[in-house]
Amino acid sequence: AREKGQSGLSFHDAAKNAEVFQKLSLEAHLRRAVELEQFEVFYQPKVNVATDTIVGMEALVRWRHPEMGLVSPLEFIPLAEETGLILPIGETVLRQACMVAKRWQDEGLPPIRMAVNLSSAQFEQPDLYEMVLQVLDETGLAPEWLELELTESMLMGDAEAAVVILRRFKRAGIHISIDDFGTGYSSLSYLRRFPIDSLKIDRSFIRDVNVNADDAAIATSIILMGRSLKLRVVAEGVETKNQLAFLKVMQCDEAQGYLYSRPVPADEARKLLDRN
Ligand code: C2E
Ligand code: CA
Ligand code: CA
Ligand code: CA
Repeated sequence: AREKGQSGLSFHDAAKNAEVFQKLSLEAHLRRAVELEQFEVFYQPKVNVATDTIVGMEALVRWRHPEMGLVSPLEFIPLAEETGLILPIGETVLRQACMVAKRWQDEGLPPIRMAVNLSSAQFEQPDLYEMVLQVLDETGLAPEWLELELTESMLMGDAEAAVVILRRFKRAGIHISIDDFGTGYSSLSYLRRFPIDSLKIDRSFIRDVNVNADDAAIATSIILMGRSLKLRVVAEGVETKNQLAFLKVMQCDEAQGYLYSRPVPADEARKLLDRN
């Protein structure tokens, strides 16, 4: 028999309860955060490796909690997915990102592609396409400046449905990028069925690209195959000059990472663009 605490619950139950309580409390906080609009969007530049200019920005959500401060998406996106709260959060991020991109254009800054992450729950919404077009319409951002980042696993589920929605986005002029490429189970030949524009080499292959021959081989083949399929290839998590030098030699199209900038608030991102 399991040991009983004073409450009569086993330690196991007590621990389980604490876990459930924490989750419920986080969920309640998250719900409240949606109502109070406590989400901010940070932006991280994507730089053209050959010309060293910023050609895009990725929108990354942050939760500004009054006591906890800035909360990382890694801590709340999974629960937001589970509870469906990712739908209002994702829409807020998309709207803010499109608004900011449009404002920068109106201010005469060099136009950049604005990339927004989609979650699988969003991707499964039958009205996703209408929602995105509605946001573009409201904000006045032209579709060609919007890029949606999604993962291989989102395409693997219902591939037929995925092809249909991606074709609609493509016809509208919206760009599609495959995030964390190389970590899923799809192959490039499989991906060829989908109308996509770019691949993002996952950070895990870039980290040791200068010292690990396997990682270098994987990164190189993604770059070469991407090129032959006429897909733009972006390396994420670029932190060092050596990593960048490798990408230059291999003629990777774009790089994104702390070497250039961490994700920063809109006003700081604007300054980066201003110097561009
Ligand atoms: P991701 O889409 O793969 O985004 C890249 C993550 O890598 C970001 O973490 C970014 O801050 C981080 N990063 C960028 N450059 C470097 C680098 O040089 N070194 C290292 N070590 N890390 C770097 P972040 O902002 O914490 O976001 C984590 C994940 O949360 C994202 O991964 C994405 O999957 C998810 N996420 C963020 N914002 C959103 C959103 O608005 N909607 C959805 N659905 N997911 C989001
Ligand atoms: Ca991403
Ligand atoms: Ca990524
Ligand atoms: Ca990732």
